[in-house]
Amino acid sequence: MVVEHSRRFAGPADLHLHSNQSDGTESPAEVVRQAHAYGLRTVALTDHDRTTGWAEAAEAAHGLGMTFIPGMELSAKHEWRSVHVLGYLFDPDDGDLRAETERIRSDRVGRAERIVRSIGRDYDLHWDDVLAQTTTDATVGRPHIADALVARGIVRDRTEAFDGILHPREGYYEPHYAPDPLTAVRLITNAGGVAIIAHPVTAGRDRMMPVPFIDRLVDAGLGGFEVDHRENTEAGKALLRDIATRRGLIVTGSSDYHGTGKPNRPGENTTSDDMVERLIAKATGSTPSYP
Ligand code: AMP
Ligand code: FE
Ligand code: FE
Ligand code: ZN
Repeated sequence: MVVEHSRRFAGPADLHLHSNQSDGTESPAEVVRQAHAYGLRTVALTDHDRTTGWAEAAEAAHGLGMTFIPGMELSAKHEWRSVHVLGYLFDPDDGDLRAETERIRSDRVGRAERIVRSIGRDYDLHWDDVLAQTTTDATVGRPHIADALVARGIVRDRTEAFDGILHPREGYYEPHYAPDPLTAVRLITNAGGVAIIAHPVTAGRDRMMPVPFIDRLVDAGLGGFEVDHRENTEAGKALLRDIATRRGLIVTGSSDYHGTGKPNRPGENTTSDDMVERLIAKATGSTPSYP
């Protein structure tokens, strides 16, 4: 009897990439081509609150002999903290998850309009400028407002926009609806997916969720943490590895590539083959597409 080895993918793997279906600057196929050019052989597309890029990315991956893992970065919120929950290999037709992403995405539009109206009182910026920076129905976020500010010549790039006008301290910031992380983890898990907290310990952004709350997320089905990410602090990475060992969790490493929208390059952090294998083994909602 021939026993097929379960590991049919090849590393290196980068499990966090964005396309123009959300706030990346390239099409899903172009994102995959870039990842291939940087030496990656397994990739996940993780647009914010949206799965529409999967088919195009999977087809591009096939053409290049790569493994494609479907994913999404779900916007959540713990108290005042923005928390991003990566979901992998869930059922994209799950009704509860779809309803929640629709709610987030539609609230993001009204919120972006409010931010732009507020900025427009002080700068020459209009909603049309933002629409010109998004593909049809893309998940709208501050990065698109940043691109509009660049197009208007008000700032040089996204980084300058986030450090200035879009920073909450400047007073134009508005929150958007987002579920609690417990809800986010349950939705992804109930849809057969694996939930991984994205960049949990960023220095410049929001502080980490308290460890007792993280333990509750694990009890609710959390699969692991994105440890190797350029925005995680070194002390934070060590703490996350300790928790992962204690609770038997998956740890990933990823670039969080956004095309030209951020300096992050594909493959600058990667996930080990063992961890990719655990992720695939844990999921029941959908399957990777292999070359
Ligand atoms: P939003 O979810 O609309 O509040 O926007 C947050 C998004 O902006 C995140 O998903 C990041 O991809 C992006 N972002 C955050 N900080 C920066 C930055 N300094 N430069 C470029 N993009 C950023
Ligand atoms: Fe983003
Ligand atoms: Fe994120
Ligand atoms: Zn991301």
